[in-house]
Amino acid sequence: MHARRNRFRFTSLIPLLALSLAAPAGAEWYQQQRDLMGTRVSVELWHEAADAAARCAGLAFAEIGRIESVMSTYLGASEISFINNNAAVAPVEISAEMDYLLRESLRFSELTGGAFDITYASVGHAYDYRAGKKPDDRTIAHGLAAIDYRHVELADGTVRFRHGGVRLDLGGIAKGYAVDRAAAVLQDCGIAEAMVSAGGDSRILGDRRGRAWMIGIRHPRDPAGIALRLPLANSAISTSGDYERFFIDAGERVHHIINPATGRSATRSWSATVTGPDAMTTDALSTSIFVLGAADGIALIERLDGIDAIVIDNHGKLHYSSGFESPANGG
Ligand code: AMP
Ligand code: MG
Repeated sequence: MHARRNRFRFTSLIPLLALSLAAPAGAEWYQQQRDLMGTRVSVELWHEAADAAARCAGLAFAEIGRIESVMSTYLGASEISFINNNAAVAPVEISAEMDYLLRESLRFSELTGGAFDITYASVGHAYDYRAGKKPDDRTIAHGLAAIDYRHVELADGTVRFRHGGVRLDLGGIAKGYAVDRAAAVLQDCGIAEAMVSAGGDSRILGDRRGRAWMIGIRHPRDPAGIALRLPLANSAISTSGDYERFFIDAGERVHHIINPATGRSATRSWSATVTGPDAMTTDALSTSIFVLGAADGIALIERLDGIDAIVIDNHGKLHYSSGFESPANGG
């Protein structure tokens, strides 16, 4: 499995190699992990001074923590919780950042024909994967009317719900956004080569001392296995899988990616991976493509510039967008 040739230009390899040989004493990779946004967040960066590395990584984690405090529905005092509690009653004034993320979410809903929909939570919040709890048919049928991104009205820095049952959750886009923001913080800190990952969402700044990063995609049915590896530089990658948060109920896998059309776990894919320029985009699209399934999902990706996808369907078969070529094709 190789990425399309024109994705990497190794013409720059020789000067970079010379540069790395000439790196100042003490220059090295620095890695730190923290638990944030309900997942393991990792920052890995190349630095020339150890104190700068720790300071820059600290700023990146602080930025992710800040975003969590605004965007998490698990935190009663977050801005998103305030919106959920009040926007059905009257328009709620929102921060510029929330306005941006809600607008982007609605844009992805339009783009994906509603496969991506932050109002999924109108039913989605009735699932508890840790407790193995799912809503009964009546609850789903009742909540389904509230799942529709068109119920979310944005105007003049406010948000309002057009339906009383609407609940929002940014779980399908906020981690990617946070990873992008953390990468921007690292860049402002003078870091040129880094990877920031939060669960299934990663953003890569630069490359790995003149080489690509090799990013493994988990095998969806073998927790220790890697389905394939992708070489990446200067880009983002997200994977959505039905193995991340799930329980088995009467032989059926109940997991955290909800088909907005049914209010139930999406069934067409085992996993969906998207590569692109930024992690907010790849995060939202990996969730979307997972819901759409291989045929519709990859057809959508083919219409988008600079974005590629690999879907593992519900039989375990891999499907690639045309930006990737399989080894069988001589790639
Ligand atoms: P990811 O792991 O990036 O695919 O995101 C999964 C998360 O996105 C879930 O845990 C939910 O918080 C949220 N989510 C689930 N279904 C949808 C959907 N259809 N549209 C948008 N967000 C979703
Ligand atoms: Mg995603």
